[in-house]
Amino acid sequence: MSVKDKIILITGASDGIGKTVALDLAKKGAKLILLGSNGTKLNAVYGQLSGVEKDYHLSLECDLSLLNDQSAIEIEAAILEHYGRLDGIIHNAATLKKMTPLIDLETNLWEKILKVNLTSQFIITKTLLNLILKEENGRVIFTSSNVAIQPKAFWGAYAVSKYAVKGMAELFRQELENIHQIKIFNFDPGPSPTSMREIAYPNEDKETLKSLEKLIPCYEWFFSEASNNTNQHYFKFSDFKI
Ligand code: NAP
Repeated sequence: MSVKDKIILITGASDGIGKTVALDLAKKGAKLILLGSNGTKLNAVYGQLSGVEKDYHLSLECDLSLLNDQSAIEIEAAILEHYGRLDGIIHNAATLKKMTPLIDLETNLWEKILKVNLTSQFIITKTLLNLILKEENGRVIFTSSNVAIQPKAFWGAYAVSKYAVKGMAELFRQELENIHQIKIFNFDPGPSPTSMREIAYPNEDKETLKSLEKLIPCYEWFFSEASNNTNQHYFKFSDFKI
């Protein structure tokens, strides 16, 4: 089992880790649904996807902070119309916005961050499971962070969202894995040189961080036959010995 011909939705595919993973999976023959809120950035990534006819991939401009049940149904319809099926989701999109003490965090920002990082993933997952559960070896990959394990001051609603995603991923896993041929993973990519990382560590020397390409084998493994039989469901980048 490889990613060739797998149909995979990647959220946050317009930048950072999601963009790097999308470019690689396309190279390996996956059919991608790219999702992001910035149409210009999304189109730029779409244009860089490798060597396939234009309609091989699908690009969906969608602001996850505005997502509701109806828009998730529209995403499902677009995927059905384009491909007729879906093998997996990489829930990679997230927003940090700013580092701040909770006492200073505006309520509307709190709500927006939780919507993008948590609620939208709940809505998309429950809607698209209809499709994924029809496939053999379906995958849903949530994205974690060390602040989901170790509370860190000033990480605000982002940290709260990652705690909650960890719980949600575990619930989906318990409810689905025993009765369906699906794997639900939650992956912490670790410190990686992206715009989000720069918000948290503006003075950090990016050269001290691993390159984004180092994450690629992790995502390929999640979609491989080798990951079918693992009992582990929460992964950190360091688990991969890359
Ligand atoms: P990034 O470079 O800031 O990229 C974030 C992606 O999420 C962008 O493609 C962005 O697309 C998308 N996104 C943000 N808000 C959105 C919205 N409202 N609607 C739709 N898409 C939205 O971040 P990254 O560092 O690659 O992070 C990727 C994932 O890794 C996140 O889940 C993050 O929590 C996790 N992570 C990162 C690190 C790290 O060191 N970088 C460490 C641990 C975990 P648009 O700009 O098009 O909206």
